[in-house]
Amino acid sequence: MERSSLAGRGQIAQLLRPASIAIVGASEDQSKFGGRLLRMVLRHRFAGTIYPINAKRDTLFEIKAYPDFSALPAVPDMVVLAVPQPAVKPAIEAAAKMGICCGLIITSGFSDAGDAGREAENEIVGIAREHGMRLIGPNCLGLISAANRLAACSSPVLEIPELPQQPIGLVSQSGALMTTFFDRAWSHGIGFSHGISVGNQADLELADFVEFLADDPDTQVICTYIEGVKNTQRFIAAAQCARAAGKPWLAVKSGRTEAGSRAAFSHTASIAGDHAVFAAACAEQGIVLMNDIGAMMTLAASMVRYPGRKVERLAVYTPSGGGGALACDALYERGVPLATFSDATRARLDVHYTHAQTGNPIDFGARISPDAGEAARATVAALQDDAQTDGLFVPVTMAPFPWLREIVLAQPSPFADASGARGSAGKPVLFAVEAGATSEPLRGLLREHGVPYTNTMDEAVAVWAAWRRFGQQRSFETPVRPAGLPAASAAPASGIYDEERSKALFQQYGVPVNAGSVALDADEAVRCATRTGFPVVMKIVSPDIVHKSDVGGVAVGVADEPAVRDTYARLLANARRAVPEARIEGISVQAQVKGELELIIGARRDAQFGPIIVFGAGGVLVELLAQRAIASAPAGADRVLALLETLPIWKILDGYRGGRLAVDQVVDAIVRVSWLAADLGERDFELDINPLIVGKTACWAVDGRLRIA
Ligand code: ADP
Ligand code: MG
Repeated sequence: MERSSLAGRGQIAQLLRPASIAIVGASEDQSKFGGRLLRMVLRHRFAGTIYPINAKRDTLFEIKAYPDFSALPAVPDMVVLAVPQPAVKPAIEAAAKMGICCGLIITSGFSDAGDAGREAENEIVGIAREHGMRLIGPNCLGLISAANRLAACSSPVLEIPELPQQPIGLVSQSGALMTTFFDRAWSHGIGFSHGISVGNQADLELADFVEFLADDPDTQVICTYIEGVKNTQRFIAAAQCARAAGKPWLAVKSGRTEAGSRAAFSHTASIAGDHAVFAAACAEQGIVLMNDIGAMMTLAASMVRYPGRKVERLAVYTPSGGGGALACDALYERGVPLATFSDATRARLDVHYTHAQTGNPIDFGARISPDAGEAARATVAALQDDAQTDGLFVPVTMAPFPWLREIVLAQPSPFADASGARGSAGKPVLFAVEAGATSEPLRGLLREHGVPYTNTMDEAVAVWAAWRRFGQQRSFETPVRPAGLPAASAAPASGIYDEERSKALFQQYGVPVNAGSVALDADEAVRCATRTGFPVVMKIVSPDIVHKSDVGGVAVGVADEPAVRDTYARLLANARRAVPEARIEGISVQAQVKGELELIIGARRDAQFGPIIVFGAGGVLVELLAQRAIASAPAGADRVLALLETLPIWKILDGYRGGRLAVDQVVDAIVRVSWLAADLGERDFELDINPLIVGKTACWAVDGRLRIA
């Protein structure tokens, strides 16, 4: 028997386009996975050859069935397994030996079911690898490829006459969510090229399928539902593939809420948790992270309809003043700006509306022109021509259908000519249809014309906001190691570093710190203070007290010699009271610096993404403020500055309270900390500088802590 033509190529692109499939567990019994799956494969008219394998039947749904692999007349490209768990291994063994190069395993009860299952899973992966066979699943819902008319999936959502096809690919770590996604999309008139449920990812993983879609001529936009990243390198490589192919990668990830705050040594650990780091990695890799699968689906459909468009400023065009006002509020909250129309646009609109109505939003209900069609056409044309408008948002509350019809018909068609060739789709248009059943005719019309819509304002605004973020992506220069740093190989010792020790290390990396020294008695404290210059700050020094103010261990504004003596005694007493067993190493006497703003700069090694830095509003309220930006380390000055500009405190840095603060020095300090983080590299560590006090011309790290495992 001929070995499958796909064998050995190792190309997933080939695996996912089988010319023939065998289905083990095929039957007519609709209470079984294999029964429903076979019916769906037939229903959607898979163009290749189908080999049902069933020992008891000669035919199934009138096509020939085979008792086992050895009876097959040729080697199929793919085998689909929907059999009880114990039957999977022998079937994979037989299939692999025969030379079948792809196995799709629906069956569950593997690593999803504990240690014994994991062992069984490893065994089948081992068998497959030995024979060069690749596996999808196990524990997945299968594959739905409109591009191949292959519906290898048992879900009832497939009870539709035809698989709608559009250049949107989907990879999902949840099988059920994949089918929900399809169902919902189809009811909005949105189709797909391929949908893959990856299951346990025993062999092929999400990143493999993203790479496949990045290469796939039938796919322009990639959607993913992610629960966890299996292999970070592969994930990042897949993102690079998608970028290189110019295909947007959209993602929804579960596990957004951090499971409990960690009992934190550093503030960094509590403000830069796993999801925040994942989100930062997505931003760096150009992956558009969203919260909701509905919004992801609508954005994908919109990007397909309006390819290559960037969205910045929107025109809101509405048949309802109320809907328009709510839309403007929601856009404002998500940071999506409204367009300011040019005088020429206003003059064109003034023909149809009172001048008060031709700002933004435009209220169609308040038009003066009697002909709704003419007003709608003129308005859409004027907005399409307006150079300061990037998209049209049409929030629809209850309004007469004839008006709405005119607004829909006025949209330029993506199909410019009768031949069906793709024409200019114009600027992006999105409807938010808030009403219920009464708006079904409108939804039908929108589907018929391929105009994207959502059923809620929130979802629509989420789409616009994500689209805008996608358009704002920029690339940054490769970070260059600043001069004067210690050699990357000069590894700092492991351990817990208190303020003194960590500041000494930060200083070696060129981060400015305030002057100070540790006194062992009150006389020495006075000498230190006199040398430093009054007023001074005094702090308890103890390896057992990490958060010094919490135990009354910090005094600022210590003005003269008697105050130094008083404070010395008080800080010791406070520390002994709060942590009686604490080892106390003295009292730090340091220069008091005066600034306008307190920042935090932190870093840690993330188990998944490696060394990262975090920075934002600092001081004792850092967790409450939770204003932070995260980047992988090392980070260059351009990236750090761009991230700083996204933070609310940027306004203060930029001179909200008077002159601009020492922004360049802050950026430099963050860059230097990122190099320290990069040098600590593979070791588990966490560090904080909190606060970095920022003045008009300089900044200083006045507190620090570091733990290196
Ligand atoms: P903690 O261990 O509680 O974080 P810090 O050393 O950060 O102790 O001190 C607490 C606060 O005291 C800082 O957030 C800052 O507002 C202020 N502070 C500490 N050191 C100085 C200093 N050298 N100059 C000015 N203010 C300081
Ligand atoms: Mg502090």
